[in-house]
Amino acid sequence: MTNNWNLAGHEWAVDMLKKHVIHGTMRHAYLFAGPPGIGRRTLAVRFAQALNCRTPIEPGVPCGQCRDCRQIEAMQHPDLNIVEPTILDPKGAKELIPHPNGEIRIEQIRDLRRLLNLRPYQSNYRVALLLNFNQTRRDNAPNALLKTLEEAPAYAVLILTAENPEQLLSTIVSRCEVLRLRPLGVGQVQHALEEKGYETNQAKWTAHISGGRFGTALRLIESESLMVEREERLNDLQSLISASRVEKFAYADKLSRDKDAMRQAILIWLSYWRDVMLRTARARTPLVNVDRNLEIEDLAGRMDLSSARRVVSDMENTLEKMDGNVNPRLLAEVLLLDLPKP
Ligand SMILES: [Zn+2]
Repeated sequence: MTNNWNLAGHEWAVDMLKKHVIHGTMRHAYLFAGPPGIGRRTLAVRFAQALNCRTPIEPGVPCGQCRDCRQIEAMQHPDLNIVEPTILDPKGAKELIPHPNGEIRIEQIRDLRRLLNLRPYQSNYRVALLLNFNQTRRDNAPNALLKTLEEAPAYAVLILTAENPEQLLSTIVSRCEVLRLRPLGVGQVQHALEEKGYETNQAKWTAHISGGRFGTALRLIESESLMVEREERLNDLQSLISASRVEKFAYADKLSRDKDAMRQAILIWLSYWRDVMLRTARARTPLVNVDRNLEIEDLAGRMDLSSARRVVSDMENTLEKMDGNVNPRLLAEVLLLDLPKP
């Protein structure tokens, strides 16, 4: 299931970028948009490799083995400049250190501009990777980038990643080729995990709760704390079904403080409720959460198909609205208050 850029899915994006490399018709700037874990960064790394590989397997397909490919993979290439959200060093050294909840600052954009004026040192293109550009300080950083885009030399290719183009200045977006990455099919993720040597049941369950985001699936399957988290979330769900309004509000408040954790919890619950729905519909399809078999049968026995179906669609809608920037706390409250009482 992996294509010849050695990544799972996003074939249309690979095809488009490959053509740009083969015909030398690159744009100065690209925006890879989509939720975290979907493969934006991996796609950017492959694109940078395709641009600078010295021994491509075929036109537009990086070898993955040469010095450039390996250095780019490790994000340690002299002609690859990375800009990512940072925070001020809490030890007070006035230094910026990378941080997932940080911001991209104007100093970083100014540094980048200086670097972009240097000709590539060992390859054909200087590639700038601006990760999570939606986390940019609302001072002059976006405007500084705009200037950088206007003045970028011919050997420079800038790649931005963000959740939504709508989060960025429209003047920036209009200067980028925008590639919106969509989640893969669950079967596709499962297959790609199996190709990596993971066992079928584990791959299947992980694919379900990854929501079609292969990067997320990999992170989940490699993490040992995952099974523990799943246990906890499913136990929480059990108690939430019979909890009071006050308890539900309190849980929603806690849950919505970390958007990523909330998304993951809902995906875990969703795979569980799909099982409940299958059982209320008396479908013969095997369950995903096999180890919770008895509990699922019990819940399904006390519920009708339409209520189970409604929970599934509520959860799917919640995930969709989270990507659309709706207030997560509000979403969590509505979701939990609407859980049926069997
Ligand atoms: Zn190579």
